[in-house]
Amino acid sequence: MTQTIHIVGGGLAGSEAAWQVAEAGHRAVIHEMRPVRGTEAHQTDSLAELVCSNSFRSDDPEGNAVGLLHQEMRSLGSLIMRAADANQVPAGGALAVDREGFAAAVTRALERHPNVTLVRGEVAGLPPEEWGPCIVATGPLTAPTLAEGIRDLTGAESLAFFDAIAPIVHRDSIDMDVAWFQSRYDKPGPGGSGADYLNCPMDRAQYDAFVAALVAGEKIGFKQWEGTPYFDGCLPIEVMAERGPETLRHGPMKPVGLTNPRDPQVKACAIVQLRQDNALGTLYNMVGFQTKLTYAEQVRIFRTIPGLERAEFARLGGLHRNTYLDSPRLLDATLRLKARPALRFAGQITGCEGYVESAAIGLMAGRFAVAEAAGDALEPLPQTTALGALIAHITGGHITSDPSAADGEAKAPRSFQPMNVNFGLFPPLAQAPRNETGRRLRGPEKAALKKRVLTDRARADLAAWMAGAQPADWRPAAAE
Ligand SMILES: Cc1cc2nc3c(=O)[nH]c(=O)nc-3n(C[C@H](O)[C@H](O)[C@H](O)COP(=O)(O)OP(=O)(O)OC[C@H]3O[C@@H](n4cnc5c(N)ncnc54)[C@H](O)[C@@H]3O)c2cc1C
Repeated sequence: MTQTIHIVGGGLAGSEAAWQVAEAGHRAVIHEMRPVRGTEAHQTDSLAELVCSNSFRSDDPEGNAVGLLHQEMRSLGSLIMRAADANQVPAGGALAVDREGFAAAVTRALERHPNVTLVRGEVAGLPPEEWGPCIVATGPLTAPTLAEGIRDLTGAESLAFFDAIAPIVHRDSIDMDVAWFQSRYDKPGPGGSGADYLNCPMDRAQYDAFVAALVAGEKIGFKQWEGTPYFDGCLPIEVMAERGPETLRHGPMKPVGLTNPRDPQVKACAIVQLRQDNALGTLYNMVGFQTKLTYAEQVRIFRTIPGLERAEFARLGGLHRNTYLDSPRLLDATLRLKARPALRFAGQITGCEGYVESAAIGLMAGRFAVAEAAGDALEPLPQTTALGALIAHITGGHITSDPSAADGEAKAPRSFQPMNVNFGLFPPLAQAPRNETGRRLRGPEKAALKKRVLTDRARADLAAWMAGAQPADWRPAAAE
């Protein structure tokens, strides 16, 4: 039976969700508030407007997680990828687009689709119950009345308006000859082991040089519309450093309650702590390291921390306006709001980040809605695929509680952080990959082979999922 599915927001996610719904034979009603009401960043009334860069990032499906996501979306009939491919501009290994041509192609395809109706106007407050199934894809700049409606329904802590992000590091790039596992005072907390943090020690000279680098480092200024710059618990690390040379070692870098097992007699001057960030244990965030340093400066300065000299960052730190849900707590595995299952969420408001990721979650929200309309349950996507890894991050892969944070430690008000797709979200390989001769590889050769094995596994599992078969047994083993 044909159903009508309302979609609030005609951005990257809403447009893709509407396309999936319409192509499956159901009716999609898109409610887009522009041009009746604008946002601080959008300039046009086009659907799927790109508000900043015109790049969809790497298009390499064998060596890059976002390139793999492109490939998966193409194979699932994505309108966003079709319009991007048709409006490509030269950009080396990246997929960049003519932004006007791209948005016009998406708008045209939806306006011409017989199953799509486009309504221009703000949905003020929660969508009315009589609409039935609805996908909310209103993005990082969700209009305030709707944001308030969501908060009233889910609780004040459930919707963030700022993204205060500390850098996140791939666990396998941390030098374990320097760092060690230990929670402060070995406290196990309610769900920890007493050894839940990775600790990187600094002596006095290293600490003084680090503080000086933070103070001198190049920073990004706040854009006018971003409103109140700092709020409790999210002070950027460089702002703390500017308050005095000792501030950090009495704050997030305090060296108390920790003993370096390699040098128990020596007291560190300061210690950087990293806390597990995903259930797989492949990603660690730098505790209390929210920052407005430029990305290049973050990489340069944070790699001076002992143990992080070769750190690979899954994402760098930042502080900007972003409306997003505490999704692991609020959404079920098919992106429905547990408190009101007729509402499904998609796009950046769910806690993914980036044009491609937002569209990808829109694609899956559309498919989940279609399956529900048909009375079917859509088989969960294997987490070994880029789409599945992203959904798992949003709906459950993330660590939501902080079992062993000691008093006074930089406790984030909530720990779920928006994320681009990256290989740290994928279940690790059961064994380190070997080349054709059976030799174990090292360095860049090993990294390249590992990515190829991960992406081959993803392609096989997506093909099996699409064919309706169970994916290959991918039960994650301990990190290699
Ligand atoms: C300033 C800025 C710069 C960015 N730069 C980049 C970048 O360079 N690269 C990148 O990959 N990502 C970037 N992002 C992130 C990017 O916005 C998102 O990744 C992507 O656009 C999110 O897609 P979405 O569909 O979730 O939201 P959007 O694309 O923002 O779409 C949401 C839509 O909902 C509409 N809407 C909101 N509230 C209502 C309402 N109540 N009723 C009806 N309609 C409503 C809005 O008008 C908008 O059209 C940036 C974000 C911002 C804010």
